[in-house]
Order: sequence, then structure tokens, then C-alpha cells
Amino acid sequence: MANLGDSIVCGGFVFYNNFDSANLAKVELVKVPEALDKDGCEAENKSCKSSNSDDIPDYEFNLWTKHDCHGTQFQNNNRTWFYFGVKVNSPGAYIKFNIMNLNKQLKMFSQGMCPVFKTIPGHLHWQRIHDKPTYSMDQKGNDFTLSFTYNAPENLKAITYFAFTYPFSYTDLQNYLKRIETKLSKRTITSVDDVYYHRECAIKSLEGRRLDLITISSFHNISGEREDRLNNLFPEKEEERPFKFWDKKIIFISARVHPGETPSSFVFNGLLNFLVNRDDQIAINLRRLYVFKMIPMLNPDGVARGHYRMDTRGVNLNRVYLNPSLKDHPTIYAARNLIRYYHHTYQLPSEEDISSGCIGNGENTMAILDSSCGISNIVRDTTTRLLQQVTLMTLDEKRKDQQKIFQDCALSKADMDGMPEGGGEGLTSKTEETDNSVELKSDKKTYTAVGIGHLPKEDSGLYLYIDLHGHASKKGVFMYGNYFDNIEDTITCMLLPKLMSINNPNFHFASCNFTERNMYIIDKRDGMSREGSGRVAVFKLTGLIRSYTLECNYNSGRLVNTVPARIRDGVNKNMTPMFVPPKYTPGVFEGVGAALGPSILDLTTNNPNSRLPNSQYRSLRGVKSYLKLAYVNNLSSPNGKSLHKMYQNNFSRNHKACKIPFTNATGQSCDYCVNRYVLFTMFIMYSVLNRFVAFFIMLCLIHTYLRLCNYFHCSNLYHG
Ligand SMILES: [Zn+2]
Repeated sequence: MANLGDSIVCGGFVFYNNFDSANLAKVELVKVPEALDKDGCEAENKSCKSSNSDDIPDYEFNLWTKHDCHGTQFQNNNRTWFYFGVKVNSPGAYIKFNIMNLNKQLKMFSQGMCPVFKTIPGHLHWQRIHDKPTYSMDQKGNDFTLSFTYNAPENLKAITYFAFTYPFSYTDLQNYLKRIETKLSKRTITSVDDVYYHRECAIKSLEGRRLDLITISSFHNISGEREDRLNNLFPEKEEERPFKFWDKKIIFISARVHPGETPSSFVFNGLLNFLVNRDDQIAINLRRLYVFKMIPMLNPDGVARGHYRMDTRGVNLNRVYLNPSLKDHPTIYAARNLIRYYHHTYQLPSEEDISSGCIGNGENTMAILDSSCGISNIVRDTTTRLLQQVTLMTLDEKRKDQQKIFQDCALSKADMDGMPEGGGEGLTSKTEETDNSVELKSDKKTYTAVGIGHLPKEDSGLYLYIDLHGHASKKGVFMYGNYFDNIEDTITCMLLPKLMSINNPNFHFASCNFTERNMYIIDKRDGMSREGSGRVAVFKLTGLIRSYTLECNYNSGRLVNTVPARIRDGVNKNMTPMFVPPKYTPGVFEGVGAALGPSILDLTTNNPNSRLPNSQYRSLRGVKSYLKLAYVNNLSSPNGKSLHKMYQNNFSRNHKACKIPFTNATGQSCDYCVNRYVLFTMFIMYSVLNRFVAFFIMLCLIHTYLRLCNYFHCSNLYHG
């Protein structure tokens, strides 16, 4: 075996390791055809038979993947990701690879997980390897070996790449974002409904890579004031901050805090692609109502180095959100500070120093576009042209149009609470009237306020937070939400996941977890609590109910939802039903990301082409009623597990607070005592009375008991 820079030559084959996300540590030749055995590699010739047999490989290699933080003081035990390239010296040879040192992933591979490959030139797109891989554990149970075979291409110049699953590297991300920027830069902005897109570097990672922050919205309620240049953030001084928007809440999306979890990038890309669609009415409404703040890669160093879970110092960054350090966890420090900034509706908490941009500290709610904050400074931004047009409108035109925009688009809390809940058409008629209706033509120049209104101080500027992940064992696509001890918040929290299961065939509502336990569980691998995860920490920081982790199994799901037709497609155009869950691909994950769009609008009945009216629930109110009945009453929980535990927790907690029999501290009935009392009475009756009479009475009691259970779950679950 010889090392040539970052490539390894073994058995006449060249193994490539010199690219973003690759992580091959060592290669060893196990078997080589006798006629070709001229390399200096060790050849152990284990269990060799005739190389003419179809099942016996011509070549066999043992490969070792790098641990996270390989060769450093931070090296740890994470070894699930692998990614390498190989150039063969024997065209068409049948080759076997054994990845020798993976983490124990029996469950995942027993469920049909397959590595992926592509060949350049040749098979340019990633696909699963054709032959089912095999796997085994060593006797100590430490190392898991994954074996798979492939037929080498005839082209000796071709390089075949193999990976644990569909890769998406830091370089892939940079190229992807450049393509989107190029596409968007070619357009002409003609309407306030057009895409406002802004990309900037929020902070540099420990190894100097960009933490990209993308802003997407429409030009509705855009102000002339830029976001503040927060202290220690936004190191690229030539990159301007995006504009602030008034009366538009922030939806914060992030991905790849765990570098090996590439499905999260495809979900992210699916949503991003959906949001920059200029013509889709759902995307238009999303941009009208919200400002999307998106961080595509929270752990760029880990991704570039081919880590599975950790950063370059062996830290699981999704456990440090409670108190991230600028020095040690800069990307999470930036994410948390941004979330706090948006939560306070572009205002900085008092303890923060402000390294301000051209306008104040964000306390102004009206931005004045005058020479001191010159329009000439704005030229590099994609909004320049439209903004100038907006600014050049006369005051009267402006007032009229602002009023109109505001009426149609501003979504205050009162609006949301008072929304009609009878299906998705509510907003449609109103918004259609105003589609592209704001003509921005005037040659009169006035300096005028552009921003309008501001949220009440007690209202968070955040509407939704989702951190995207991949999952190795639990099947399907699902979400984790936080636990709430009252019905309203619980239903609010469950609503988006439920809507996702109506808008996407692969989303498993039954696999979602909203338990208290899931907020504080200690990770066996690093001993750190989920309290420090993005989802829990953002809730603790801001009180945001819609704070989620979205998880995608790498491989497949347990079920496929029947997705109802969109209202404009009519009832007869249900999607072709699938009964077997597909093998997940980037396309499936992108579909999940795109389904977030209509699901978010369904939350407030602002989806102009909703699937809800054709679903069994008929309307948002129907979904809410279903959640209330099915889960809060606990008549049937999705799979009887996660939600059931929630009730168990409540039972025991209420009982602990129970000072005298049957009542708790607040003087209300204690479910736990009542249940025990009923069971005890049943037992005594059965023992003492004539068995036949007792049997009859017992049946009556069981009936009463069940009714009692339902009654208490319904009315008294959250007391105490
Ligand atoms: Zn993860």
C-alpha cells in the first residue's frame, strides 16, 4: 500500500480520498487473482475459491473509514459515514469491498439500507448499489463490517465513488447556492410578489468555512432599513445585510448540524427550491406572509472532513444551543443570536453590543430613506431596483398601496386567531385580486417612510423553527416537538406535523414524539442532554411552540399516506396510491421539504390550493378536532407509544402532588387514585360475593371504569 498525497494505491487500484466529505483511512488488499499478484500489498487469500465463479470476486479489499476527528486529540467513536473514489486497473472486474470498522448499524442495514455509487464518466447520478450488501459483527461486538460488490467499468480512466448514502458536501452546497443566485440574478423584478433573495456569511467556522444565511421573502412590507450587523457576526464587510420586513414573522430553518445526515440537505433544498418559485401561488403566499431565514449547513467543517456527527473538536453541536461559545461553537453561537434577534423583532437584547449598520439599533419602526442612508449604498442588492421604484412613488400612491398590501398580507396575531377555518380557499379570492396588482411606476421622487407598523412588544417575531436531520434507526419521516402541559399548546404543536402527513406521502405522524422525556433524554454516546438541542433550546429561549426537529430515515418508511387531491384539482385526482414505502432518495427528501410550504400555509388557512377540503378532516378545524379527540382523549394514540407515555407522566406527576385521597393539591380529583380505587373495589367484590353475582357486577364495573378513564382523560388530564 502506498500513499500518493491524499490517494491510496493498493493492488494496482487507486483509492481517492482527496475531496470534500471523503474519509477513507486505510486500504488492504485481501484477494487478488494469482496471475495479477504482483503488488506489494498483503494478500491473505481468505477463503478463496475459483475466481471464475460468478459469486467469487476477482478482487477483494478491506477498507477502514476515519473516525470523527481522526488522528486528533478529539478523535471519537463515530464511524458511520464513508465516502471514497476508486480507479481500477482491471476493466470489468468483479470487486468486493469490506468496510471494516463501522459503528454497529445492524438495524439500519437489516432494513435494506444500501450504500450508493456513481461513476464518472458513466453513471453520473448517485444510485444504490445493485447487489444487496452483507454485514457482520466481530466477536467482541465492537466493529461492524459492511461488505458489498460491484462490477468495475470497462473504461480504465473512470472513477467510481462510493458513499454511505447520497452525499451532499460543502462544495456541493456552495455550487448549488451559486446556481440559484445565477438563476435569480437573471430575472427582472416586476412585482412585489417576486422573490427577495439574499445570501450572506453569518460567521466563519473554526476552520474558516462560511456559515451561509439565506433570506427569502417577497417585497411586501420591505423596509428601507437593513438588519443590524450583530456583534461578532457577519465578517464579510462587503456583504450587506438584508432588509428588514415589517409585520412578517420569521421562519427559521437549519440543516446539517450533524454532518453525516445528508437527507437534511435534500429536505432543505426541496424547500429552498419551492420558495424561489416565482409562479407557484403557494410559494407566493409564503413569501407574502413570512420571511424565511435559512442556514443550509450548521457544521461545514464536519461535512468537509467527512464526519458523521461531530465538529472538528469532537463536539455534538446539537447539544450546545443553551450556551454556545463564540470561540468554540461559532456557528451555533451565530444561529442562536440570530434566533434571539428575530424573536425580538430585529431588536437586540439589552446586554448585546451593537455594531450597527447604517440605521440605528432597530428600535425604529419607520425607516427613512434619505441621503444619510443613501440609496446609492444599496446597489449591490437584488432588491435595489424595486426598492428604488418603491421609494420613488409619491406619498399618496404609497399610502394607498401600503394600505392595500397591509390589508392583504399583514398577518398579525389577531388575524391568525380570527382566521376562518373552513378550508383553504379563504384567502384566495382576496389575494388573487391583488396578484401583481401593485404597479410601481412613477417618476416623482419623494423621501418617505417605507416600513409600516410593528408587532406588539410581547409578540415574538418568530413563527416557526425547524432543524433538519437524518435518522438511522426509526423508519419514516417524522418530527420531534416539545411537550406542553395544556391542551391548546399541545394541539398547536401537533398541528404542523399532522398537516405534513396530509401533504406528503412519506411523513409519519404516528412516529412523531412530543414527550417531556424526549426533551431531556441523555445521549448515550456523549452523555449530553437534548435540552441543549436546537429544538428544546429555542423553545426555552423564546417560548416558541412551533419549534421542531425534522428527522428522515436514511432508507425507508413504514407506511405511505394517501395524499388527497388539491382543491383546485378536484376530488377525482387523488395521487396514485402507493402501498409499499419507497426506498428514500434525494427526490423523496426534496418532496418532504416542498411539502413544508403548503403545510405552513394550511396552519392559518392561507393555502390557496389546499388538500384539506378533500381530506377526511375537511378543514383545519376538522384536523384540530381530530387531534383533540384522538389524542387528548387518548381513545387511540398513533401507535400507542409516545403519546401514551405523555399521559403516564401526567398520571404519576399528578399523583405525586396528591395530598389526600382522590384530590390533588388544587383540590381536584386525582385520576391515579380514582383508578386504583375502582380496581381495588372490583377485586374485593369478586373475592367476597357469590362468584356469579360478582362476575355480573364486575362487568358493570369494568364498563364504568372504562367510561371513567375516558372522562378523566378528557376533562382532567392536565389538572395540577
Ligand atoms: Zn441529527
